[in-house]
Amino acid sequence: LLSVKHLRKAYGDHEVLKDISFDVPRGKVFVLLGPSGSGKSTLIRCLNGLETIQGGTIEFKGRPVSGTEKEWRKLRTEIGMVFQSYDLFPNLTVAQNILLGPTKVQKRDKSEVEPQMDRLLADVQLSEYRNAYPRELSGGQKQRIAIVRALTMNPELMLFDEVTASLDPEMVREVLELMLRLAKEHMTMIVVTHEMEFARRVADTVLFLENGVILERQSGEDFFTHPATDRARSFLDSMS
Ligand code: ATP
Ligand code: MG
Repeated sequence: LLSVKHLRKAYGDHEVLKDISFDVPRGKVFVLLGPSGSGKSTLIRCLNGLETIQGGTIEFKGRPVSGTEKEWRKLRTEIGMVFQSYDLFPNLTVAQNILLGPTKVQKRDKSEVEPQMDRLLADVQLSEYRNAYPRELSGGQKQRIAIVRALTMNPELMLFDEVTASLDPEMVREVLELMLRLAKEHMTMIVVTHEMEFARRVADTVLFLENGVILERQSGEDFFTHPATDRARSFLDSMS
């Protein structure tokens, strides 16, 4: 589904990603792990076309991610992304936030999108907040709404960058459970997380980044039971 070849990304002289290559098949979950500053967020942003890249190629469904403005807009509806900070519009209700992309960007009919939205809201037990404003929601509720909003666009790939990092511990679980369910339903996902229990459960493949290179590429099971490098081992120790 997604193919990254020899990707290089630099900010000025600072090479942040160096010769990154990997392929994500449809239906698989990739977890990106690595120390702070290793380039995880930068990589996620490159995959979504939010960064210009200095070398290599990124292809989604065989088409380059970089391209004309029009191609990029289409791509943004096919790749869903949720960040650490809740990016809901504060002046719009939950329903208005969710409907915005499907109706304005995808030009779909509200009458077609609304039942889908209501189903997804019911799935995450947030139906009663349909007409609430983001400020009336807890952090965990906001993140689940942000995920529902992305899902309402029917994305084929979901990117998650530390979506639980700024949540209180009791709210982390409800968001992770939603992501686990998506994985079970075979959503293709690339996930950056500091939740190691969750990572272990959800990862088909772990990519361990350090200083902008993929130091390890292993099945989730292998990575967590016997990491190949000392760097990964000490990373896992520091996270437990
Ligand atoms: P963390 O775990 O702390 O979120 P990360 O692995 O996501 O870290 P990135 O945010 O991708 O790391 O940053 C990788 C490197 O790129 C860092 O050295 C950072 O300082 C640098 N960097 C990131 N964004 C920019 C930017 N907009 N301009 C310049 N340098 C940047
Ligand atoms: Mg980051």
